Amino acid sequence: CCTDSWLHCQHTFELSRVRPLNDKEHKSNDHMVVQFPGSGQILCDGIPGGPSGGQKPKLFGYNVVFEPGASQDDVLQYSGIKRIIEMAIEGFSCTAFCYGQTGSGKTHTLTGPPDLFYGRKPDPSDSRHGLVFRAFLYLFQLLQERKDTNFILKASFLEIYNEKVIDLLNSGSARKPLAVRWSKKSRGFFVENLFTVDCEELDDLLAVLEEGMRNRSVGSHRMNDYSSRSHTILSVHITSEQQAENGVFISKQGKINFVDLAGSEMTKKTNSEGKTLEEANNINKSLMVLGYCIASLSDSKKRNGHIPYRDSKLTKLLADSLAGNGVTLMIACVSPAKSNISETLNTLRYAARAKKI
Ligand code: ADP
Ligand code: MG
Repeated sequence: CCTDSWLHCQHTFELSRVRPLNDKEHKSNDHMVVQFPGSGQILCDGIPGGPSGGQKPKLFGYNVVFEPGASQDDVLQYSGIKRIIEMAIEGFSCTAFCYGQTGSGKTHTLTGPPDLFYGRKPDPSDSRHGLVFRAFLYLFQLLQERKDTNFILKASFLEIYNEKVIDLLNSGSARKPLAVRWSKKSRGFFVENLFTVDCEELDDLLAVLEEGMRNRSVGSHRMNDYSSRSHTILSVHITSEQQAENGVFISKQGKINFVDLAGSEMTKKTNSEGKTLEEANNINKSLMVLGYCIASLSDSKKRNGHIPYRDSKLTKLLADSLAGNGVTLMIACVSPAKSNISETLNTLRYAARAKKI
């Protein structure tokens, strides 16, 4: 419905970020099969298959496309995240997702390289910082400008691994899984006993980010490490209180979730048995259910019908943000390399599904 101010008339926005070829791909003479023919467009060429060899190139459309040369600051400036933070301050529930295969740049986009957080205070001017850090700086900049309003910020950071919710801010409890329950009072799902940190200053919020990143566990697996099998959700709850001219206090509750999803390749590439297969299925379940929910929400005929939020932990915890009148940003992260073409196509299709709004 609108051309330039696209954030005002849609609930779900699909973006894509294409990372540069990495050293390994360069060394093995892999090459780019992704092109950018026009604004918001990605063209995939070199698709294998069919009796006559290659298939026709496929074109995908997004609200915004970040090409390999895009900087972390470009993602802050052009992803719409600034508007989303403004909406969260105004009382909406908003979510930014990164979706894509392992190694496609999800964590890079959200938080930057993990070593930014190892045992030191992050340097704000470091160009490698991801969207979350930059969003926090912007959030505090806005809060400081609003002298007439009192803000209360609370943050939590959790991980969903094998359909179990683990608190990333409370590693002392030996990673005991926490229960997800329904609250009649707030009419929403919540995590019982989840640690929530009061954040009065920017440093408090940054400490939450740093602590959670450090606790995000690392394990080994036949193909992928633990972090590629888990989903993480970093949430900031924003309560604002403002006195209206007639003296009445107006209180608003908004929220922003940053979600680093498990690698989208999980089930196909996981070639193991027993517990690990169960893990793969559960991870896939959350991603599958998320896909159904987003597809149903973006279909005007289905939007008011049954949405299967209850079918996975991830969608239970994000239900209010997905269903409400907030905004969801889905950033499809992809590799440009020929060797990854089938996963790239899967990712681009998954995220393009919701474009039917
Ligand atoms: P994922 O979280 O999707 O598994 P990562 O974010 O860990 O992937 O990225 C894999 C590797 O590629 C990392 O070494 C990361 O620094 C690098 N990388 C990802 N995206 C970019 C980018 N846009 N520019 C430069 N390097 C990137
Ligand atoms: Mg990652």
